[in-house]
Amino acid sequence: MDEGFNPMSADIIDGKAFAANLKQDVAAQVAILKEKYDLVPGLAVVLVGEDPASHIYVRNKNKSTAAAGMNSFEHRLEPDVSEAELLTLVKNLNEDPAVHGILVQLPLPKHINEAAVIDAISPEKDVDGFHVINSGLLATGGRGMVPCTPLGCIMMLRARLGDMSGLNAVIVGRSNIVGKPMAQLLLNENCTVTMAHSRTRDLADVVRRADIVVAAVGVPELVKGSWIKQGATVIDVGINRIEKPDGKTRLIGDVEYAEAAKHAAAITPVPGGVGPMTIAVLLKNTVTAACRQAGVEEPQV
Ligand code: NAD
Repeated sequence: MDEGFNPMSADIIDGKAFAANLKQDVAAQVAILKEKYDLVPGLAVVLVGEDPASHIYVRNKNKSTAAAGMNSFEHRLEPDVSEAELLTLVKNLNEDPAVHGILVQLPLPKHINEAAVIDAISPEKDVDGFHVINSGLLATGGRGMVPCTPLGCIMMLRARLGDMSGLNAVIVGRSNIVGKPMAQLLLNENCTVTMAHSRTRDLADVVRRADIVVAAVGVPELVKGSWIKQGATVIDVGINRIEKPDGKTRLIGDVEYAEAAKHAAAITPVPGGVGPMTIAVLLKNTVTAACRQAGVEEPQV
């Protein structure tokens, strides 16, 4: 343990502040691209149906895109839109030179095949990084688009830990959008990576060995504070809405925060940790995509 390390109070990794800085950097990059190349990155967001949570996400994405000086194109489709109509819209966006990034808000209504829609997006415009080409590039060390949430987590880990070579990283959850890309990114950082999931035997024992814990499960406080190794870094991706006795809701993560903070050296809170980073990274990915499509160097700020 470091000298002076206080086991009662982990440092809070402030995702909100981190995201605000990243958004500022993106806005500065956009200003340079406009000035130097007359290039304005454009993000198209497609929303199908009436899901209230999706509406809030999409509104926030559009606001943040415009605030960074980029073009925001919003497409709202009726819940009964056919898969063919949605695929035609994606095809048109693929061909539109003003659109550098395309995001189709998930989940889609049941009658639409999500995988078919994701695979219809041009890999170079797939700013969510969900296309099979982009997952393949991430897995083989190529240059693709990286999913926003895991990329945000790795940015915060790099800022906190610097060199992660040889550290034991445990990821709880093996989804295609968080767990699996997170594992690839931590492997790229030379961590020794373990993926835990719903069939893992003795999760407590696996988590106890971790220098880095990433929880992406969707089960409130599944990861107990007493499992956290002294001095570990904890990234809580989970967003769980809990109803309070007064009928209002509050958000909690997948990690038992107060208890974990007694053991960890650093931990992300929920809310205010990973959540705010996702949109900021989406903007960053849109700038990256625009620069690659225009064949220009991404401005360093
Ligand atoms: P998912 O449902 O696709 O995957 C959950 C994973 O957890 C599965 O791989 C499953 O094997 C594992 N799991 C389930 N029960 C388990 C158990 N008892 N023990 C160990 N593993 C178990 O979820 P997801 O899309 O990866 O999202 C996970 C959480 O992260 C959710 O709370 C989601 O809301 C949140 N999330 C947040 C952001 C963000 O902050 N921007 C983005 C994406 C997801």
